[in-house]
Amino acid sequence: MTTPPPDRPPRKQRPQITLSVESTQWLTPHLVRVVANGPGMADFTDNGASDKYVKIRFGDVTRTYTVRWAEAERLAIDFVVHGDEGLAGPWAANAKPGDTLTFSGPGGGYFPDPEADWHLFAGDASALPAIGAALEALPADAAGLAFLVVEDESEVIDLAAPHGVRLKWLLHAPPGSDPALLAAAIDAADWLPGRTQVFAHGERESMKAIRAVVKERGVPREDLSLSGYWAYGRNEDRFQAEKRDPIGKID
Ligand SMILES: Cc1cc2nc3c(=O)[nH]c(=O)nc-3n(C[C@H](O)[C@H](O)[C@H](O)COP(=O)(O)OP(=O)(O)OC[C@H]3O[C@@H](n4cnc5c(N)ncnc54)[C@H](O)[C@@H]3O)c2cc1C
Repeated sequence: MTTPPPDRPPRKQRPQITLSVESTQWLTPHLVRVVANGPGMADFTDNGASDKYVKIRFGDVTRTYTVRWAEAERLAIDFVVHGDEGLAGPWAANAKPGDTLTFSGPGGGYFPDPEADWHLFAGDASALPAIGAALEALPADAAGLAFLVVEDESEVIDLAAPHGVRLKWLLHAPPGSDPALLAAAIDAADWLPGRTQVFAHGERESMKAIRAVVKERGVPREDLSLSGYWAYGRNEDRFQAEKRDPIGKID
């Protein structure tokens, strides 16, 4: 006779947190920072990860966003405004003080390793918040390369990075339309010697191309944080559903 498996403890429900928009600030023509605050932040447990993200509620659906920074009673999220399509982008573009922001989280688990010989970052505008936070978390003597693709000069932002980390901005529009761009730049670069830790996130097909390059270079899985943050021509619901199918899997 087989013993029935023990009852699994119920999945811990992440609390839903509701804040009020305090202010918005356009960082570039397509990137707007929304700062929100409120006593709901008492339920926000900072996991310390540089890529911590929340699931923002828009009615029945959610959209996933990096927390650019969080303080006791406030947090900031930088939204790419990518036209009139979608929920989150248009919401952020029109957000006003007093608007409600409801989310659960945070998730995420990237911690830049101070023991790595150097750091490789790659991403598009959607990953600038996570890459910006990771750059700030590096030790002052860290070395590395960061490949960042944005639409044009006006989308380049100031990122505080250790002196030894070179930022290389690539310009291409519309976002995600050249999935080989980042991978080709990474492949053509002079890699620094030693063990690299890689953080690459952004449009799904671009990430697949980068995955092939870093695999070819022998970066082991444990030194690689790589995933699609969005997919060209797909909204987040479809993109997340496809992640479970071969078409959407990066590996
Ligand atoms: C862990 C994680 C962290 C993320 N952090 C951030 C973040 O900090 N800031 C951020 O802006 N995004 C971030 N994203 C990406 C964001 O969740 C997606 O871009 C999401 O699809 C936006 O939702 P939406 O309602 O605006 O558009 P959707 O309704 O999902 O999509 C509508 C259309 O817009 C297109 N689209 C979606 N995103 C973009 C884009 N960035 N550029 C151009 N076209 C796009 C889609 O392909 C689709 O055609 C993150 C994603 C993940 C998984």
